Amino acid sequence: MKYYTKEVTKALKTVSVGAMIIVAVVLVKYKPAYAVTLADEELGYIEDKDKLELKVKNYREDTSGNVAFKEQMLVPEYSLKLINRNKKMQDKEVQLAIEDSMITTYRIYAVTVDGNVQTTVSTEEQAKSIVDSMKSGLDENIPLNVGIVEQYTKEFSTQSEEEAFQILDTIKVAKVEEYKEAERVRQEEERKRQEEEARKKIISNKTVTSVGTIAGIGLVRPINGKITSRFGSRSSIRSSSHTGLDIATSLGTPITPIATGTVKFAGWKGSYGNLVIINHGNGIESYYAHCNEIYVAVGQAVDVRTAISTVGSTGNSTGPHLHLEIRQNGTILNPENYLY
Ligand SMILES: [Zn+2]
Repeated sequence: MKYYTKEVTKALKTVSVGAMIIVAVVLVKYKPAYAVTLADEELGYIEDKDKLELKVKNYREDTSGNVAFKEQMLVPEYSLKLINRNKKMQDKEVQLAIEDSMITTYRIYAVTVDGNVQTTVSTEEQAKSIVDSMKSGLDENIPLNVGIVEQYTKEFSTQSEEEAFQILDTIKVAKVEEYKEAERVRQEEERKRQEEEARKKIISNKTVTSVGTIAGIGLVRPINGKITSRFGSRSSIRSSSHTGLDIATSLGTPITPIATGTVKFAGWKGSYGNLVIINHGNGIESYYAHCNEIYVAVGQAVDVRTAISTVGSTGNSTGPHLHLEIRQNGTILNPENYLY
């Protein structure tokens, strides 16, 4: 029994010594290492798996600069192998390959004008400084809708602050020009309006002297001019008796009504051309025909200082003149008996 045990012990010793020699020989020539694959692609061998994984983790979690976040879509696989000691380790290359496989999303800042992105810059501070510069020294009436929008992108592309300033400054200059042009047009229209107002005001300020009365209403001349056709006369362009008095003066001369009243008609009426009819009450109406422009509308109250229209040659007319008619309860009267 003892002998047997001794023999076994000896054999075991021999075997373990042999095994140790083999291991020693193997370790002299070979070493353990990890083969790393990513999506079935061999990346290479690494020595220290924990160290590599820590580095990769640190890279993934690093969101400095414009990095918003990184996504690791592919997970590397490690298999432990014994490889020749002379085999070069590729820890750094493998690390970079894994990092490269990640998808990075960047945060950038877009400057918008009227909602349209005009430029993108790296930092919010840059964007703010560009917006401030856009707004500075700008007339408050100029509508400039500038904003900052945070954008997320996988393609990191921004403009330098100088480039961004340049782009926005060009837009600013264009906006200012556009505003100035619109303002110029507005002022021109305002000037024309004021001229028109002034023209009417000249009429309003004219000396009004009542030259006659009819049905208790004091009458004034609608214009001064030369009488070219009298009431009741016939002419080459009329077959019937003349129903009014023609007073000629230059085209565009403002016409005022013979008395206070209300506009009954203002518009085109056949051979009268542009016609204004004023109702003065007490059955009295006055007609102003062949007008060039009409300034009043039906229902409008007018007085002897209101420019109701201008002298023209519209309708059945051979030259600028006012055809004036006065009617009392529908009967046509001779204006010359009251006014001229
Ligand atoms: Zn006439």
